[in-house]
Amino acid sequence: MQRRFLSIVLLELLAASVLVAGVTLVRAFHFELALVSAALVYLSAASNVLAGSKRPAAGTALFVLVPLVPALAEQYLRQPCDPGSGFLFYFLYTVPAAVCGAGAGLSAVRLLKGLWLRASLVLAVVLLPAAYTLWTLYHDAPVRFFHLVFGMWPGSLYDEQVAITPALWVARFEGLVLGLSLVLLASDRLRKAGLAFGGLLLVLIAAEPLTGVRQPLSLLRERMGPPVVAVGVRFYPDPDLPAEVRGEIAGIIGEAVTHVKTRLGEDHAGRIELFLFRDVERRYEVTGARYTTFTKPWQGTAFLEPESLRSARGKSLLRHELTHLVTAPWGPLLGLPWNISLLEGTAVAVAPGSAERLAALAKVVLEKKPDLGLETFLRSFGFWNESAAVAYPLGGAFVQFVLEAKGPDYLKALWRLGPFEEPPEGGWKALAAGFRGYLEKIEPSEGEKATGTILSKRKSIFEKRCPHDAVVETGTP
Ligand SMILES: [Zn+2]
Repeated sequence: MQRRFLSIVLLELLAASVLVAGVTLVRAFHFELALVSAALVYLSAASNVLAGSKRPAAGTALFVLVPLVPALAEQYLRQPCDPGSGFLFYFLYTVPAAVCGAGAGLSAVRLLKGLWLRASLVLAVVLLPAAYTLWTLYHDAPVRFFHLVFGMWPGSLYDEQVAITPALWVARFEGLVLGLSLVLLASDRLRKAGLAFGGLLLVLIAAEPLTGVRQPLSLLRERMGPPVVAVGVRFYPDPDLPAEVRGEIAGIIGEAVTHVKTRLGEDHAGRIELFLFRDVERRYEVTGARYTTFTKPWQGTAFLEPESLRSARGKSLLRHELTHLVTAPWGPLLGLPWNISLLEGTAVAVAPGSAERLAALAKVVLEKKPDLGLETFLRSFGFWNESAAVAYPLGGAFVQFVLEAKGPDYLKALWRLGPFEEPPEGGWKALAAGFRGYLEKIEPSEGEKATGTILSKRKSIFEKRCPHDAVVETGTP
């Protein structure tokens, strides 16, 4: 037993080092390390107990410390942005996860017989909260979501600001309570206390709409003012918005809905709800996205703020988000297509701005990036290979081409394709060739050439650098 335990510990150490070293190299956001560490300490703590360790607490402590060394080195050497919160983040994610792992392992060994039953309990402690997490993402307003054992996924792909909010503290406290209740349940003497902790956890979960861990739509509707209806769209203004702003916004929204429906030949009759926050900060508190506007087509909801809707850019944004909602009946996957280039391309193509400009930018980008595989880009997940600066206009120009050459019904058919299906008559290859032919007739202006060149140099999400590096390079803050 002793030898088996030692070899498991060695294997875990090896896996931890490889994973942690790998994650420090990726660094697209600023929390991956904490998240991976949380998963590792959970698994190692649970397996330490299952493997028969006499001192699961010591084994677990070791695994909190192993990822800590590269984590701190990374914080201080490569991320000068905010080492303090990096450190705090690390502990917020890992400590409750370690306690949950030790608790799951202990209660599995003490309460159940046989490895499979025990492993199932360890797995259930991860999977049940995951199911709850997915349900909140589906059902509530925010893009950020919490997992009882592992912590938080902080929001949309493009919002890199990851903060330690009061909601995160509460959510991690819930994780700690789960872990403690499992530890106590494993003890014959303290089982009642374990049940009491379990009860406390249920109370905390029930109170999540009050503590801000969850933001259900029903509560949000109550907190906003009474809805205003414009061309079948309900919008909920922030109570702080003056009446004249509401009237103006109703006009802007009505115009945008009519434009999108006409352009796509889709008379969407389902429910569309727009939530209008006073400002970006208020939106961030509720939805977890400060710099990105997002919609949930399966709910028919979008979350915006009126300041941004008045500018030309804001009107374009509104049409973009409304397109995601109006096309919901087309999408086979909760109102979304498998193909992200089509999803975002349709929204970009419908937003105002000259169609020729979109095509001109796409032409310049394709010239400047000869290695960009257009066929791959057009397939299901090719969108993520490129930076947002390239992917959005390129997808937009492609959908523009489809709408002009083949019409909305053909676009709708493309949306319904499965992840590995080909369009009829020559597949993606033929469509890519047709698209290149369409671009050939476009003559980009000098300004479009300059913009397209800048866009083509932007890096994809997995190649981003710390803003401080950019400051050093350009000399401007
Ligand atoms: Zn979009």
